[in-house]
Amino acid sequence: MQLRNTGRPLAGSPLGTLMIAAATTVLALGAGVASAQAPAGAEEDYDAIEAAGGGGTGTGGGGGGDGGGGGLSLKLENVSPGKIFYSGTWAAKFRFEIDGSREREVKVEVIDHRDHEVVRDWNRTAEPGVRYGVTWRGSAAGGGAAHLGRYFFRVRERGGKVLSRTEARGDRYVKHFPHKFPVRGRHTYGDGIGAGRGHRGQDVFADCGTELQAARAGRVQWKAYQGSGAGYYIVIDGKSTGKDYVYMHLKKPSPVKEGDRVRTGQRIGKVGESGNATGCHLHFELWSAPGWYEGGRFLNPTKKLKAWDGWS
Ligand SMILES: [Zn+2]
Repeated sequence: MQLRNTGRPLAGSPLGTLMIAAATTVLALGAGVASAQAPAGAEEDYDAIEAAGGGGTGTGGGGGGDGGGGGLSLKLENVSPGKIFYSGTWAAKFRFEIDGSREREVKVEVIDHRDHEVVRDWNRTAEPGVRYGVTWRGSAAGGGAAHLGRYFFRVRERGGKVLSRTEARGDRYVKHFPHKFPVRGRHTYGDGIGAGRGHRGQDVFADCGTELQAARAGRVQWKAYQGSGAGYYIVIDGKSTGKDYVYMHLKKPSPVKEGDRVRTGQRIGKVGESGNATGCHLHFELWSAPGWYEGGRFLNPTKKLKAWDGWS
């Protein structure tokens, strides 16, 4: 405060540099505390402070361009993986580091590439020389799943400009898919809806033992055995969709339990021929809200399965 009143630029004087160094240390501590207090369970919001870019947090050289409130820039940005499934086993992790010489209040945003709408955002206090991260599993701001498409991450000063990214050459794009194809191996399509016998789903043939993964995250609503029909089966109440996802003829009982939350892409069993089945296959059903034998009706899942198959 008092130094500033002398009207001399801080960054030039040795005293100024010292002050900044001291301030940086304190702020780094502050950031640590803030991160430790992040609410548990807010899994998409954790603030990872990873390796602070090698020793004495960048006061010496490098810090330029932060002087008179000019454009702040990103020193690093990167997102991986480049493809995620809604509420999936893998989240997109965006990492960034700001340039400059002091801490800033920034907002990290996920932007829909199609219309440039902000889908999600997170506030962060970012300090130069420290790498921050946010994770995103495809949820939209108002809850629910973001639609299928391309998204990118962006960092802006809170209430201000988007950070320049001329020096940051990492990829910032991620593709988001609301579903994943459940049969994880070679497969062929069998009977669909109807098939002259009141068939309520789509059969997908694959070798017995082929891994099955949840097409959509959700809560396991039923897990049972029906010798005369479905065999070992499970019903998953899809997350942020009223639909139920039904998987039948599993080789063995699913490893998940009733009431469990599962992620899209989580292992839920193996293709089998339990119950009334001829040949190893998944019999898959999709039911509208409120769900499977709860007043919902069965939907035709064939087109959907084939679309998921195309991108999974
Ligand atoms: Zn069937």
